[in-house]
Amino acid sequence: MTAFSSGFLGKAGRLLMAAATLGLVGTDIHAASASELAKDLFGGKRLPAAIAPASYGFYSKGCFSGGVAIATDGPTWQAMRLSRNRRWGHPKMIALIEKLSREATADGWPGLLVGDISQPRGGPMLTGHASHQIGLDADIWLTPMPDHRLSPTERENMSAVSMVNEKTHRVIEKRWTPAHTRLLERAASYPEVERILVNPGIKKKLCDTVTGDRSWLRKVRPFWGHDYHFHVRIGCQAGSVGCKEQDPTPRGDGCDKSLAWWFTEEPWRPATGPAKPRARDIMTMSSLPKACRAVLDAPSPTSEAAVTYHGPGGSEYAATPAPQAPAVAETPVITDPGVPAEANAFAPRPSVDIPLPRPRPANK
Ligand SMILES: [Zn+2]
Repeated sequence: MTAFSSGFLGKAGRLLMAAATLGLVGTDIHAASASELAKDLFGGKRLPAAIAPASYGFYSKGCFSGGVAIATDGPTWQAMRLSRNRRWGHPKMIALIEKLSREATADGWPGLLVGDISQPRGGPMLTGHASHQIGLDADIWLTPMPDHRLSPTERENMSAVSMVNEKTHRVIEKRWTPAHTRLLERAASYPEVERILVNPGIKKKLCDTVTGDRSWLRKVRPFWGHDYHFHVRIGCQAGSVGCKEQDPTPRGDGCDKSLAWWFTEEPWRPATGPAKPRARDIMTMSSLPKACRAVLDAPSPTSEAAVTYHGPGGSEYAATPAPQAPAVAETPVITDPGVPAEANAFAPRPSVDIPLPRPRPANK
């Protein structure tokens, strides 16, 4: 047994009760701080909420409890940009990244460089991503893992290599390899993966070259950025009654007029008119599901090591099943008319094939 399972799960019942109490009284105690920006509160947390794993709200407006960290190093991965403290996710997300790293290695990819997942308790971030808020999103670099262990400094400063020509929006042919395609296919093969976001040039490359089974292309969606990493999103997990599902991806492989739109001038046209505020700059605690207050106030685990996931990733990694427990409290998702939908890069799209223009997000 690891420190995680003996120290953390053993107290789960008591912590659950504490959190439920916090949830009941939280709004009174914290009424005065409801106008504080959620990004400041969540961005200041160094450790997760040591209660049962559950996601609350939506990918671009929510939080999560029971987070675990992916280890900085595994047999088949290395985590990047450690100073950001965004190695945290729902246990199912972390388990999935580890699985992908093992299976991708078996496919011939040298190992994963793991980018941002979530903050310890999720929520909006001080910088970067609009989504990644509920522990179910992860960025994986399209750069193969080097054959040596990177130093902390290298992990901060090493540049990722863009796969896409930013003028033509097409893949740079000499950089794209069949191994990149296999990696994306492997990621898309998992039933829990609902979406993979890539640059439109990468989607086009797949559309033009994948033969045989093309059904997995349905999950691979074009989006701004995502030229040096891809973004894996899994669905709401069991025990997360407050987690809001995203719309299913449209039928078909997506190699159609919705993709052709990306190769017009329109998506790349600079926005006109007054700049709209970013969602994270206006989201307060009252913008988020009520349960996020309890998540914020929940006790921390004893240490980061106690909540670093050690799945079946290699001989030194003892198998520890991901914790399963009921959610802390049932929370309706609050829609906040104060936050414009288009301010969220991953806000639900209108149900039309062609994406509408929106401000280009700075979530590289
Ligand atoms: Zn991402």
